[in-house]
Amino acid sequence: MQTHLLGYPRIGSNRELKKACEQYWTGKIVLDELLKTGKEICKQNWNIQKEAGIDLIPCNDFSFYDQVLDLSLTLGAIPKRYNPIAEDTTKSELDLYFAMARGYQKEGLDITAMEMTKWFDTNYHYIVPEFYKNQVFKLNSSKIFNEFEEAKNSGINAKPVIIGLVTYLLLGKEKEEGFDKLDLANALLPVYFEILEKLQEQGAEYIQFDEPFLALDLSEKAKETYQFVYKQIKEKFPKLKFILTTYFEGLKDNLALATQLSVDVLHVDLVRNPEQLDEVLNVIPERLSISLGVVDGRNIWKNNYEKSLEFIQKAKEKIGSERVFIAPSCSLLHTPCDLDNETQLHSEIKNWLAFAKQKVNEVNALKELSEDNPEEKFLNDFEENKKAVESRNNSSLIHNQQVKQRVSAITEKDSQRKNTFGIRKNAQQNILNLPLFPTTTIGSFPQTKEVRTWRAKFKKGELSAQEYDTLLKKETERTIRWQEEIGIDVLVHGEFERNDMVEYFGEQLEGFVFTKNGWVQSYGSRCVKPPIIFGDVFRPNPMTVYWSQYAQSLTEKWVKGMLTGPVTILQWSFVRDDQSRSTTCKQIALAIRDEVNDLEKAGIRIIQIDEPAIREGLPLRKSDWQNYLNWAVESFRISASGVEDATQIHTHMCYSEFNDIIQNIADMDADVITIECSRSQMELLNAFGDFKYPNEIGPGVYDIHSPRVPSKAEMVDLLLKAEKVIPAHQLWVNPDCGLKTRHWEETEKALKEMVEAAKEASALFVSQDKLQNHWL
Ligand code: GLN
Ligand code: ZN
Repeated sequence: MQTHLLGYPRIGSNRELKKACEQYWTGKIVLDELLKTGKEICKQNWNIQKEAGIDLIPCNDFSFYDQVLDLSLTLGAIPKRYNPIAEDTTKSELDLYFAMARGYQKEGLDITAMEMTKWFDTNYHYIVPEFYKNQVFKLNSSKIFNEFEEAKNSGINAKPVIIGLVTYLLLGKEKEEGFDKLDLANALLPVYFEILEKLQEQGAEYIQFDEPFLALDLSEKAKETYQFVYKQIKEKFPKLKFILTTYFEGLKDNLALATQLSVDVLHVDLVRNPEQLDEVLNVIPERLSISLGVVDGRNIWKNNYEKSLEFIQKAKEKIGSERVFIAPSCSLLHTPCDLDNETQLHSEIKNWLAFAKQKVNEVNALKELSEDNPEEKFLNDFEENKKAVESRNNSSLIHNQQVKQRVSAITEKDSQRKNTFGIRKNAQQNILNLPLFPTTTIGSFPQTKEVRTWRAKFKKGELSAQEYDTLLKKETERTIRWQEEIGIDVLVHGEFERNDMVEYFGEQLEGFVFTKNGWVQSYGSRCVKPPIIFGDVFRPNPMTVYWSQYAQSLTEKWVKGMLTGPVTILQWSFVRDDQSRSTTCKQIALAIRDEVNDLEKAGIRIIQIDEPAIREGLPLRKSDWQNYLNWAVESFRISASGVEDATQIHTHMCYSEFNDIIQNIADMDADVITIECSRSQMELLNAFGDFKYPNEIGPGVYDIHSPRVPSKAEMVDLLLKAEKVIPAHQLWVNPDCGLKTRHWEETEKALKEMVEAAKEASALFVSQDKLQNHWL
């Protein structure tokens, strides 16, 4: 039996990589210093694994920005627009690399960055390879060889990690017409050969190919490409041992394909899909070993040794222990580095957790415990583990009978408004009395350095609660006055009291804890610190009523209450794994419902429940979509359905394409949806138009992600276009997302233009309408 890891976090346990990269980008450190930091992190990571007793340790899992971009650079998949940098001999390989990642606006050059997108269903983002019809690939970087050499010289039994050829192609995007990216397999193979040749010369024994696409729905062509590619590789390198890793899902209908491929070890994710073990063991051919992904690489809970040992035992009995590898389910990239750094966590809760460093020890302990006569030390580990699991099963911190009962008592009625949208619309209009093309914003206003300094000082105790409150109130009042002045119809309070749209709620809900240093890479140097949902969730006290009520007291106009929805809170947290995600989501939904109802009681007549993450929660396999959408939509509806007809519920979504889930968006039955669509305006509008989206909709009329101020004319144009596909009385006018990251200057200009645009479009529409009536 052997242990291995698929990858380790590379940000450093104190985010050393983030800091070094950002300093390099701003010219505060030179290249050598950055490289040195990189090497130190690699060595630290290797040593953690070596000291823990891991047999096969990954290398080339380190990256200065992203592992997919590393491979693009290595394979020479460098779009032509970067030629000025590639050809400039004064620029280093890393300069070119960072230009591809971040764009280059210096020295008279203005080159856009490569596109970035989510890595499967994680919150990690990779740089999308760009493919062209007759693309030529050539070995272009020695990063992988250097890292292997470095590891060897440090006494590490290293296993180079490379994204598999088919997954690499499937991750990319065709940038011209007339070919299929999978056709590039032939052109890519020689470069893969060259890489393997060199690694073999350097003394590599094992190579890990990451092929997570094998766990997804595959086209026939992709399946054929898999067979072709791995046959070619094995024929050419019969002596190298290839570990093919699959993760984030089960192999399911691709099981036969995966076990046929000419590799030596097949890694399966037994956290996401434990049921697959029996099937895999039944069909696995004798030449193939199996790597059991038993330690969760996507979450922060301690492993349950007893359960994992059952899997390991089963595999050992069926195929013999020489053919069994033990590993985390996927790369540990998606977990924070080190729990030891969390000195302020509640000790009982801390005892249920394991971050990357702790998971490495778990992998080793599992191997030791599955040997015939485990050492005393590991037997003690086992007992400790058992106790931790029991404590988590029974802890009064986690289990709240009232919450559980409330969830099990949910009936269909709880996710239904009192009446249908048609009736609600009248009731709302009677009270709200809004004009045609009403204007609003998505919630947040610019969060200036000042505002952030106040919060930091307040947290450090340098500002009293009262001083902080007074400052925030002033900022809120200023924002209300300014919105009144420029004539926005539905105002917002500005969200100045919020750090982050999930953290703000998590901090006020029971069942959540926060780490001090639990950072996970999101993209490049950007890291996030997801809350941990450890227990039954409920809302002890109102969370936003104070601010909404204060803002409403300042003005005669309507102020919109602002909440984060249950699916988004779930999606952006580490979620407990001892009950279904849908149950946890419904608990959160009930807490938000309480808040919605309290806002209504406090006189807030318009309430927005943001769900930007609803689409990214979609499962990787299409066959699982409907089940997810059912409980996600139900959760939203539970949170929104406790109010009277006359109370208007808004929702907001962004970051994604919605065309394929438009029915489900309609099923959410929000009275108004404001939606990001600045990139493909018309496409989205057409989708909503064709579908005959029944409720009201505010297609974002300008892109808040850019400092550019849009003109009134272009927004009028857009509104008139929108009105062609969606009836005017259904349309709202708003930016496409929150304004938190913008500056006041451009925000003020843009919103003034927007209000004028709404007025003009409305006037035009009314006069046309009259004209038509006149002619009739
Ligand atoms: N209400 C939030 C804001 O305006 C919405 C943020 C989001 O869509 N991501 O910031
Ligand atoms: Zn948004």
